[in-house]
Amino acid sequence: MADVLVVVDHVEGSVRKPTLELLTVARRLGTPVAVALGAGAAQTVEVLAGHGASRILVSEAGEYADFLVVPKVDALHQAVKRVDPVAVLTVSSGENKEIAARLALRLESGVITDAVDVEAGDEGPVAVQSAFAASYTTRSRVNRGIPVITVKPNSAPVEPAAAAGAVEELAVEFSPAARGTRVVSRSARESTGRPELTEAAIVVSGGRGLGSGENFALIEALADALGAAVGASRAAVDAGWYPHAHQVGQTGKSVSPQLYIASGISGAIQHRAGMQTSKTIVAINKDAEAPIFDLADYGIVGDLHTVVPQLTEEINKRKA
Ligand code: FAD
Repeated sequence: MADVLVVVDHVEGSVRKPTLELLTVARRLGTPVAVALGAGAAQTVEVLAGHGASRILVSEAGEYADFLVVPKVDALHQAVKRVDPVAVLTVSSGENKEIAARLALRLESGVITDAVDVEAGDEGPVAVQSAFAASYTTRSRVNRGIPVITVKPNSAPVEPAAAAGAVEELAVEFSPAARGTRVVSRSARESTGRPELTEAAIVVSGGRGLGSGENFALIEALADALGAAVGASRAAVDAGWYPHAHQVGQTGKSVSPQLYIASGISGAIQHRAGMQTSKTIVAINKDAEAPIFDLADYGIVGDLHTVVPQLTEEINKRKA
């Protein structure tokens, strides 16, 4: 079976869930080989082997933290040369898309971003993308070289699968450009205790219909009842009601959770662009004609100030 290179997202050795989902996708295409870069990379081995990685290439060089993306591109380029995979899979994120594009350029191949699945095809892996509020599904294949494909979080289940997990040191030779852009400072955002927006299985979002920033407390209470992340429309963010890091849409984050609840959000195309691949969409809006209802699997026509607290109360009651 052909090897599939999976780029590992981890935080100091703690593997993030979307990487485990990628390993599920990779196993459908061939034998997963993982590549983990940065501090703590060696600590990822056990988890990756437990989810099907036959080999794990590890490089803990300090360059990945000290400089922007080029050292990672150098490392992945060298990993590809060693493994000669049928595809490189990475999790869709801003940084990973930049890395994917640069890597594809080096490989003289092509990149496909924001896939919601990758299928085995007779002539190579086929990436499935969802477009225009999920009205279209496109299947694309890179027809020269090794495809680099970014896959959205929540696109596949996490499936444990024991594999050898043989560890290989990747001694990376960095290019002169690797040290071109230095990171001068880093600061972590204050933790809310809620899941990361792009990785969350459930996202509860609020829009202009909330009427004020204080009313985001209603969204947060529902999110906490469900163990969900909080999202916001651009109108709510532009009004200063919620931080931009939570904006969902074309100029915000792209999410693909199992459940997306939109409250007081009209469903503009730019908002849909960031949430249309959610598995189940629930809309709460007082306007029965709001475009969000064209997309929603379940619609509640009503005032969110009444509906959202009722929903939260009911969920909490059932959990008790
Ligand atoms: P509105 O469109 O004003 O909708 C508010 C909704 O709340 C209405 O449907 C109303 O019926 C409902 N409502 C009001 N009161 C209540 C109540 N009490 N109970 C229940 N429902 C109520 N938007 C994004 O979201 N993300 C993006 O990334 C983004 N990028 C953009 C990029 C560009 C280049 C441009 C031009 C626009 C972008 N937008 C983006 C903006 C987008 O076009 C919309 O303006 C925005 O999504 C509207 O936000 P909203 O749905 O919260 O507000």
